[in-house]
Amino acid sequence: MIRLYCRDRHDGASDLCGECAALLDYARQRLVHCRYGVDKPTCARCPVHCYKPVLREQIRAVMRYSGPRMAPRHPVLAAAHLLDRRRAPAGE
Ligand code: SF4
Ligand SMILES: [Zn+2]
Repeated sequence: MIRLYCRDRHDGASDLCGECAALLDYARQRLVHCRYGVDKPTCARCPVHCYKPVLREQIRAVMRYSGPRMAPRHPVLAAAHLLDRRRAPAGE
C-alpha cells in the first residue's frame, strides 16, 4: 500500500522515498510491539492507536489512497483486506 501511494504521490518509481521508507519502518516497529498480539485488530479500527499523531495521519492518508485502488490489481488481497478491516479488537 505504501509503495502504491509513494509511486503515485511522490514519484517513488522503484524505491520508497525517505518519508515513506521511514513510515514503513515505523509501522513495522508498531506491529512488533502491538499490545494485542495475535488478536490484533486492523490498525485503522484500533481503539488505542499507538501511532504518533503525525505518522497516524500519514498512514491514514496511505490507506485512503491505496485501499480503493488495490481492488482491481489484487482482487484476492483486496477482499482479504476488506474482511480484515471489519475485525474489531478481541473482547469488544
Ligand atoms: S494501532 Fe493498535 S493494532 Fe495497530 S499496532 Fe498499534 S496497538 Fe496494535
Ligand atoms: Zn513516498
